[in-house]
Amino acid sequence: MALVHCNQNYALAARMLHRLSAVIVMLPLRRRQSSGATDKMEFMNSALSFPFPDLPATGTTTAVAQGVAWLRMPLPFALDHINLWLLKDGENFTAVDTGFGSSETMAAWDTILSGKNLVRSIVTHSHPDHLGLAGWLEEKYGAQMWMSQGDYTVAHLINAQIGGYAVPAMLEFFARHGLDSARLAALDKRGNAYKKGVPEIPGSYRRLFDGQIICVGENEWRVMMGYGHAAEHASLYCEKLGVLIAGDMLLPRISTNVAVQPTNPDDDPLQWFLDATAAYRALPDDTLVLPSHGKPFRGINARVTQLHDHHAERCARLIEACATPKHAAELIPVLFDRDIADAHQVMFAIGEAIAHLNHLMHTNRLRRIIADGILRFETI
Ligand SMILES: [Zn+2]
Repeated sequence: MALVHCNQNYALAARMLHRLSAVIVMLPLRRRQSSGATDKMEFMNSALSFPFPDLPATGTTTAVAQGVAWLRMPLPFALDHINLWLLKDGENFTAVDTGFGSSETMAAWDTILSGKNLVRSIVTHSHPDHLGLAGWLEEKYGAQMWMSQGDYTVAHLINAQIGGYAVPAMLEFFARHGLDSARLAALDKRGNAYKKGVPEIPGSYRRLFDGQIICVGENEWRVMMGYGHAAEHASLYCEKLGVLIAGDMLLPRISTNVAVQPTNPDDDPLQWFLDATAAYRALPDDTLVLPSHGKPFRGINARVTQLHDHHAERCARLIEACATPKHAAELIPVLFDRDIADAHQVMFAIGEAIAHLNHLMHTNRLRRIIADGILRFETI
């Protein structure tokens, strides 16, 4: 399906205020590599080129293509930054992603948008560093939000703590996968982390579809939906510019977090992620990839191969470890070369472990055993 939306009327949409509770901040998990894997990673990264070595300082922009500017915003995590993009849109501007809901990000936006008219924000997906300030940008600058329906809906469900999107469902799910009471208690105490990063969500939005063409100024951007990292993640490709705004789907230095959700406990999001990234191989290899974390790069095929090899290697580790049945929690050190205590990281780690285990179950390499309410996996 290819829908063309040009000459939009950017009427300011009505807005709902949400002061709710919530959960899941999904960010890519920084992984420590074993020495062998590190060597491989560095070798593979030499296949990538980084044409913009200098980072834009907070509150400034760097032009990376005709009408495309790069800006970085701070994040209060180990992963300490997110890249956002500002597209020239005729006499106005469109933002791609909005930053984490913090006063620092607001101040940087105010500096960058001084003298500019921001008419739209295109949000790649619902995670707080991407969606966080969409409501504020709409209220203060009149920027209408565009987003996939999947992620818009999930954002509201998490913020409102509905059913399987609420903290108790997450705790129950992780307990079934063997997570110990101390780490469950830490996650429970952490409570609504999502709300901190997404203080408000616009009450209406323009919906994005796979294959949709969005006109931004003189450029056409094609939406490429991807799955496995978020409900319905929108990347944007402009053939004329040779640019892919990849969001979190293709990162140059860290692998994207892929996790099973409590609402879909038997799904195989790792396969979805592998399929979505494989689709990028159809793009020209000299495409400039604009990732949400790290620097813009070229070498799209090499990066996709590297990520696929990475997940295959992690799957091989799990197959070996599951010679005797194991649950996801005890496989975290196998997957990440260390055990993880920090609640924020535990959530990503166990979700990612379950994603690999489900993938191996669906591809008939592991069988799942349920005993005493705990799910374990055993090599076939
Ligand atoms: Zn994300």
